[in-house]
Amino acid sequence: MPRKRHRERDEEYRKRMAEWRRREYDARGKLAPRYLRRVFHGRRKLMGWVRRLMALKTDLAKLGDEPYCREVDVARTMKTLEAARSLVSRGAPFVPCDCVGTEYGCEKCQGQRWLTIDQVPHVQSTGPL
Ligand SMILES: [Zn+2]
Repeated sequence: MPRKRHRERDEEYRKRMAEWRRREYDARGKLAPRYLRRVFHGRRKLMGWVRRLMALKTDLAKLGDEPYCREVDVARTMKTLEAARSLVSRGAPFVPCDCVGTEYGCEKCQGQRWLTIDQVPHVQSTGPL
């Protein structure tokens, strides 16, 4: 059995290395710096979650006219799903901060080196992400 455990561990290691090597992009389509790859990998995961949520909204809209949905407050449920989408989108990493190299004491990003959409000036924050 120890061999199998080794194989599983190797597989896990390979997955993590592949994840580490993978290129990640910010919301503007620019390649994320290496030190923020993990962060923008997370952004990709969050945006995947947002897309799934949008698909759920579409599904619910289709079901809304069915007789068995009569007692379901579809409009309120849609609003709730939209609120969740908005919260996650607004909290997700958007772009790297331009303070590279001066990571301590940056007022824009508080040292985390990336910004959310609301922290970026001149971005239409009500538009699609
Ligand atoms: Zn900064």
